[in-house]
Amino acid sequence: MEQMPYREEMQVPRGYSAGIHFAGTTGASLPLVVWGALRLESDGQGIAFPELVLWAIGFFLFASGVEYAAHRWILHRRRPGLAHAFVEHTLRHHRWFDSGDIEARSGRDYHQILFPVWGVVLIQYGINLPLCLVLSRFVGEWIGALGLCVGAGFFFLYEVVHAICHFPASHPLFRVGFIRALRDHHRRHHEPGLMGHRNFNIVAPVWDILLGTRA
Ligand SMILES: [Zn+2]
Ligand SMILES: [Zn+2]
Repeated sequence: MEQMPYREEMQVPRGYSAGIHFAGTTGASLPLVVWGALRLESDGQGIAFPELVLWAIGFFLFASGVEYAAHRWILHRRRPGLAHAFVEHTLRHHRWFDSGDIEARSGRDYHQILFPVWGVVLIQYGINLPLCLVLSRFVGEWIGALGLCVGAGFFFLYEVVHAICHFPASHPLFRVGFIRALRDHHRRHHEPGLMGHRNFNIVAPVWDILLGTRA
């Protein structure tokens, strides 16, 4: 497998701003979360709360499964037509941060942590939104709206949680037990011997537990 240079030698575009990058990726997702919530508010009148919760849990599990599958079988396997994702993730992100050192030292490190904004737009508006519109049309108005809310919200959470996992270990957020546990889960994934085999979930280790890939 070809080798990339370590983080010190990797190029980041001149004038790169982690804050603008973060605002771009999360800002691309939030309008869909809000729109889904507003549609749910108007279309979900009269829906029994337990039914709504069950569908929400189902959508969360599905989104978590997509996160797991994409990470395991696209980002860590070179696929025809999807090699860019493999190069950016396995060769660059994992080279930039190995297990002993996944902490961002400066703003430039977030260039290799956050999704490219075009990637978020493509996934959210090119895949997630049309799928939820089809659900709304053929299964139920409020179900599509809920799917959009949970699906878009999950990708928003993915960006936030993955960024937090790479915060310096001394960050006060890691006093919270479950946030520390999520970070440790991801830190182990960055161990070169484990990255292709263990800890593919980021937001919650649901499928790693169910499929026995939790380190
Ligand atoms: Zn990472
Ligand atoms: Zn990975």
